[in-house]
Amino acid sequence: MASSTWSARTAFTAPVIGSLVALAAMVSPAQPAAAGTDTAVTQADRDAARNAVTVQPHALPVHGAEGSQGRKMVLGAHRRAAGSAAEPASSSASSAQLKYPADLTYQGGQVLATTEHHAIYMRPNGACPIAACWGNPEGFLSDLSRSEFVHVSDQYVNSTASNRYPVGRRATVSFEPPFNFSPNAVPFTDADMVAVVHAVASKTGNTGYGHLYHVFLPQGTDECFDNTYTVCYSPDNLSSFAFCAYHGYADFPDIGHVLYTVEPFQNVPGCSGPPNTPNGQLADSTNSVLSHEFFETITDPDLDAWWNNGGNLDLNGYEIGDECQWFATFGTNVYFDPSYFSVGERTYAVQSEYDNARHACSMVP
Ligand SMILES: [Zn+2]
Repeated sequence: MASSTWSARTAFTAPVIGSLVALAAMVSPAQPAAAGTDTAVTQADRDAARNAVTVQPHALPVHGAEGSQGRKMVLGAHRRAAGSAAEPASSSASSAQLKYPADLTYQGGQVLATTEHHAIYMRPNGACPIAACWGNPEGFLSDLSRSEFVHVSDQYVNSTASNRYPVGRRATVSFEPPFNFSPNAVPFTDADMVAVVHAVASKTGNTGYGHLYHVFLPQGTDECFDNTYTVCYSPDNLSSFAFCAYHGYADFPDIGHVLYTVEPFQNVPGCSGPPNTPNGQLADSTNSVLSHEFFETITDPDLDAWWNNGGNLDLNGYEIGDECQWFATFGTNVYFDPSYFSVGERTYAVQSEYDNARHACSMVP
C-alpha cells in the first residue's frame, strides 16, 4: 500500500547513471551541494521501506492553540511505543527525602556516545538553496558538537569526549511538486521518509549507531505518520497538525538498523521560535527543533533508553528534550521560547535540555 501510493504521487528525478549517483562531499558546513548529485529513490528503496521494521516514532508536538490536540496524540504514541516499561521509578533509600519527578530514568537500551550526522535535503524540482530554505543546519550541528551545551548529554551516554558528534556527508533528493506540496496535496508519509533514508544509506553503507540521518523538508511540504493522514506535520490543515518533527529508526532486511529524524519546515506557527534571534527566525527555528531531536536520539535512539518513567507528574514518556520546551507569547503568537549558547563568535537560540545532575533544564553541564 505504501509503495503504490508513493509512486502515484511522487516523482523523484530519474536516476543518473553509474558514479554520478553520489552524495555531495561535505567540505564545510556552508558548502552548497553540487548540482546533479541527487540521490534517486528507487522501487527497491520503497520495497525496503515497506519491509522494514519501524517503531511509532517519537515526535515533538506543535505548540500553542495548534498543539493542544496533537500533544496528547503524539506523547500518547510514545507511551505506546515504549509502554512495556511504564512502572513508576522508585527512589533510592538515601534520597527518600528529595524527589525529582522530572528526572529521566534509564530503561536499559542503547545510547550513542558518538555518531556522525548526515543531512538529507528534500528539494522540490531539485531546487531550494539550503541557506534560503533552512538556514545552515549542518553548520549548527558542527558547532553543537563542539559546544559546552552538548556535554549535558555526557551523563546519559557515558562519554566526556569532545566533538564526538561530527557532521558527515550530505545528500539531496529531488521531488516534483505539486505532488506532496501544499495546498491540496497528498502528504509524504513516514514510509516515504524511510525509503529516502534507505536510498542514501544503502549507497554509502553508512548504517548502524554510528550514523544519524536528518531528512529536511522544504516549506509547504506535509508529512504524516502513515497513510491514514491523521497524525501529521500539516500547518495548512490544523485538524491533523500534531507534530513539528520526530526521531525513530528502521530495521531494513538488507542494510540493518538505521537512525533518522524527520525535520519539516519549522518556521510556521506552532513550531517556530520567536523573531529576532541571532541567526534569524528561519535558521534558529530549524536549529532548535533539530537540536531537540538530536539530543533525544543520542539519549534514546531506540526509544528504550532515557525517558521519564512516571512519578506524580504527567511527564511519563517525556525524553530529554520534551521536558524543556518553554513557550512565550508575543501578542497573539505563541513561540518556542529559546535559551542561548555560543561557540566561538556564533550564538544560537535553541531550547535547553533536561539535566538529571542539576534536576533542571540546562544549557551547560
Ligand atoms: Zn521530543
